[in-house]
Amino acid sequence: MKIVAVANQKGGVGKTTCCINLAAELGRAGHRVILADLDPQGNSTSGLGIDRGAVGRSVYDLLLGEAPIADVLLETAWPGVSLLPATLDLAGAEVELAGAMSRETRLRRGFEGIDDRADIILIDCPPSLGLLTLNAFVAASKLLVPIQCEYFALEGVGQLMRTLELVQNYLNADLELAGIVLTMQDQRTRLSREVGDEVRRQFGSLVFETAIPRNVRLSEAPSYGKPIAYYDASCPGAAAFSGLAQEVKQRWLRP
Ligand code: ADP
Ligand code: MG
Repeated sequence: MKIVAVANQKGGVGKTTCCINLAAELGRAGHRVILADLDPQGNSTSGLGIDRGAVGRSVYDLLLGEAPIADVLLETAWPGVSLLPATLDLAGAEVELAGAMSRETRLRRGFEGIDDRADIILIDCPPSLGLLTLNAFVAASKLLVPIQCEYFALEGVGQLMRTLELVQNYLNADLELAGIVLTMQDQRTRLSREVGDEVRRQFGSLVFETAIPRNVRLSEAPSYGKPIAYYDASCPGAAAFSGLAQEVKQRWLRP
């Protein structure tokens, strides 16, 4: 089983959009996927069509050690995709865990014993490098970083890399930077192309060939609680996520 933290402390760069649609595409391809929503905003939860108000046990309970993962996992309407949902109380978890024993390893422990239930876990991280993201970094073996093709795209990436190094040195030697995905690319603008080129120059083959285009259908789909493949399978955003999922399979899920 592969555990992937999808992280970038910048907000609005496409973390959640990547999580929802990668999960759905990999599920469609026959893989068993768990999406762990570690963002108190719960956009992955609602974006998969789960009513947050109706959620019982959540990732919060998993982190606090108050429920086993089997009690938190929810089936979704999308083939192959299960969810560890986020509820509003997750916002308090950082503070509640701050003084707790083994506060950085709670998620890793929560995942124990789940090996036979999934091929891949995608962790949707909040837009910060706080304790929730740290828990994702300790639980994961792969870090996937979405980078938005806009001004200041690389701002903060240095800090993210330093955090990765600290985690590798002190908490989880298995964690590797495993992929970068360019998001919200607009091939018509020079800026977007330049940012893409710069990221590829800096990170080489770590950058997935498939870039996610800016596509309004991708921003509409979550309000219907649907991954893009089930909202509008013929739009450019759907094609891009299908391509990205192919690459993820090739790189990470080959038997
Ligand atoms: P993050 O999880 O990093 O905060 P999101 O995935 O929630 O980022 O994306 C931020 C906003 O941009 C959301 O409203 C989302 O629907 C929209 N968005 C994300 N990717 C795209 C895209 N490729 N094209 C158009 N809108 C997008
Ligand atoms: Mg998000």
